[in-house]
Formats: sequence, C-alpha cells, structure tokens
Amino acid sequence: LADKLSAAFKRLKSKGKLSEDDVKEAMREVRLALLEADVNYKVAKDFTKKVTERAVGAEVMESLTPAQMVVKIVDEELTALMGGGETRLVSPPSPPAIIMMCGLQGSGKTTHCGKLAKMLKSRGHRPLLVAGDIYRPAAIKQLQVVGSQAGVAVFEMGTEKPVKICKEAIRRAKDYGNDYVIIDTAGRLQIDEVLMEELHNIKDAVHPTDILLVVDAMTGQEAVNVAKTFDEKLDITGVILTKLDGDTRGGAALSVRAVTGKPIKFAGTGEKLDDLEVFHPDRMASRILGMGDVLTLIEEAQVKMDQKAAEKVSRRMLENKMDLNDLLDQFKQVKRMGPLKSVLSKMPGMEKQLKDVDIDDRDMDRMAAIILSMTKEERAKPSIINPSRKRRIAAGSGMRVEDVNRLLRQFEQTQKLIKQLRGKGGRRRFGF
Ligand code: GDP
Ligand code: MG
Repeated sequence: LADKLSAAFKRLKSKGKLSEDDVKEAMREVRLALLEADVNYKVAKDFTKKVTERAVGAEVMESLTPAQMVVKIVDEELTALMGGGETRLVSPPSPPAIIMMCGLQGSGKTTHCGKLAKMLKSRGHRPLLVAGDIYRPAAIKQLQVVGSQAGVAVFEMGTEKPVKICKEAIRRAKDYGNDYVIIDTAGRLQIDEVLMEELHNIKDAVHPTDILLVVDAMTGQEAVNVAKTFDEKLDITGVILTKLDGDTRGGAALSVRAVTGKPIKFAGTGEKLDDLEVFHPDRMASRILGMGDVLTLIEEAQVKMDQKAAEKVSRRMLENKMDLNDLLDQFKQVKRMGPLKSVLSKMPGMEKQLKDVDIDDRDMDRMAAIILSMTKEERAKPSIINPSRKRRIAAGSGMRVEDVNRLLRQFEQTQKLIKQLRGKGGRRRFGF
C-alpha cells in the first residue's frame, strides 16, 4: 500500500515538463521586460531564443507554476550571461597596476576615477590619479577635486601630450610606491577616430593591466554600439556601469556584456565618491527582469485563464451539471497557484489568521488521486459508483474505501447545497 500511495502522490506532485506553449507564453513577457529595461533589441531576441531552447522540456519544480519556472530559468541564464559572480581587477606580476578609464563624455569617467581610488585606498592600497584629459581645463580641476575628496594624489602636467603624461606618471608611481595608477582620459560626445587613436596610443605606451570602459546605464540601446566600438579598438578588460541609481532597469548591462563578452566589474550608484559597488550579476538579473513585474504579468495572464475556467465551472454548477471532472479541474487550478497556505495568505487579512493553521495540501492531492482512479463515466456520473467500483478506485489510488466514500459524500453535499441555493433564487442573485 505504501508503495502505491507514494506512486499516486508522485504522479500528482510531478508537474511534468515545460511544454513549448508554457515557454512561449512566459517568454513573451520576458522579452517585453527586457525591452522595457532597454536591453538592445537584437540582444533580447537572441537571448530569449537561446533560453527557450533550454527551457522547453525542463522539469517544473514542485513549488512553482510553469510560468514561474520559465522566469526562474531566465533569471539563472541572465545571471550566467553577465558573468555569474564578481570579477576582480587584474593584478600585475609587479606593481603598479595600471587602470585606464575610457568612455564617452559625461559617462562618469572622472567621477569613477575618484570612486575607484577611494575604494582602493580604503583597502589599504596607494593609488595615484592621472589627469589625462587635457582638452578641457576644467577636467584637470575636476580630477583634483575628487582626488582631494578621496585623499589621493593627482598627477598632472597641464596640456602636455597624454602619452607623455601617462609615462611620466607611471615613473613617478614607481618612485613613490603607488601600487595603482588610475588614468582619466578625454571623452567625446560621440565615438570618433581622433579619440580612438589617442586612447590607442596611450594603451601602446603604458600597457594598462585594466582598460575599463565607463558606460552610462541610462544610454540603454546605444550602449551596444559604444561598447562594441571601444572593445574592437582597445580590447577592453571590463566595464564600469554608471548611474544605476536612476530608475533605469540596467538593460545596458546585459547588452554590453552580450556584445563584448567582457565582464562588468563595478557599478556606479550615485554622484558621491562612496557610491561604487562591486558588480553582482544576480542582482542585476533581477533588476533587469523587474522580477516582481514579470511575475505579476504572468500571474495576471494566469488569472484570466483561470477565471474563464471558473466561470465555466460555476455555470455548470448552477445548471446542476457539475461532476467530478469539474472538481478535478478545480484542484488543478488551485495547485497551479502554489501551496494552498501561501495562496490564501496573499489574500488581505488572511495572513494573521493562518499563522497557526496547518493546511495539508495533501488532502487535495488525496482527493485528486481518488478522482484520477475513476473512469470517465464514473467522474461524470458518480451515482453509478457501486461498492465493487469503490474497492477498485480505492485500490487504484492507494486509499481506503472510507476515503472514497468521504469524497463522494462531500461531493453530494455540495450538490445539494447548490440545489438549495438555486431553489432560493440563487440564479437571480448570482446574476445568471
Ligand atoms: P566624464 O565626462 O566621463 O568624466 O563624466 P563625469 O565624471 O564628469 O560625470 C558626468 C556627470 O555624471 C557628473 O555630473 C557626475 O556627477 C555624474 N555622475 C557620474 N557617475 C554617476 C552615478 O553613478 N550616478 C549619478 N547619478 N551621477 C553620476
Ligand atoms: Mg571627465
């Protein structure tokens, strides 16, 4: 009996594999979420295609609906795509490590030179900032301001050629024992050849250990072109994604990572020097998906489907045509929403009342098991279930005959109740 029991439960507990329809349905919402997060169109398309292939046929976990299962897989794949875990700065065989910052004007290079310097200093390092943006007098001054805020020395040579400034700065760093050299460079509003050539010259002259591309998260779709061009020309080692403190969903993170394959190492989250974080792919994945939103969307779609089914059932109830097939349908719908206790606790005012209540979802599983052991005719017309049929159903579901009786009795009582309601003008009251 124990074997039969567990076999019956297993059949009900395993929700099977994700079908193509499950995945397609959920993936449509995921694609929308990606686009809404400003992920590049092509990146979003490629990503959903790849994940669709992985998701179809995947086993649905016990506590999840198929749609939630798809989102879970998407979340995992997004995290993996963005590097899985944290990525560190490259450490050279001998100091100093040379970090070259590059990016468009206004992306946050100068600010993030200061942030990075401060972070490194707080970890016991001795960074040196280098003023490599010689085109705007204000740029040198700006670096000096952040340098003094961070308590870090700034090296500058006015409007000397950037390559010369950088070489000189590194010599100085070696003399003074600075283990990190952080080079601020000029940006342009748009990518242009002159800028790229200058950056390339600096790269050739100083062989940076890290070339970090600073990307404004709010540029969204455009981030793809920027990252692609900079990476092609300079072979960057990583990205700093800035301005994530705004309401941007950070889709640029995914786009940048997808087109360059280079890790995002840091995230800027504000104008202050302390607003710098090591980049966490898993957090970014949730942010891009806007997890709550996606799940809400999916749940709404689900509710609409369930409503249709519920309407059908209540119509059949009132026409007194409800049978055990309908009951089974209802069990399935409730099951889809997750454990009964958690479903109920989401209803306003219920959480407190449920605190000490122990709801056994297996009751529903047991009843479902019994119904599943009936033939189609028996489910449609329970009155034909005689004692020998009851014994067969009990054996088939691993239950006792008493359990079958109890289920039939409960069902009969429900039907009586409905009949009474109808007699009292329930039809009108329910608006049918
Ligand atoms: P650069 O031209 O690339 O050197 O950019 P700046 O470092 O001068 O930054 C341009 C503007 O963006 C400044 O007003 C910064 O205060 C601002 N900024 C930089 N990083 C962040 C960030 O992470 N969050 C916010 N909100 N603003 C930032
Ligand atoms: Mg600057």
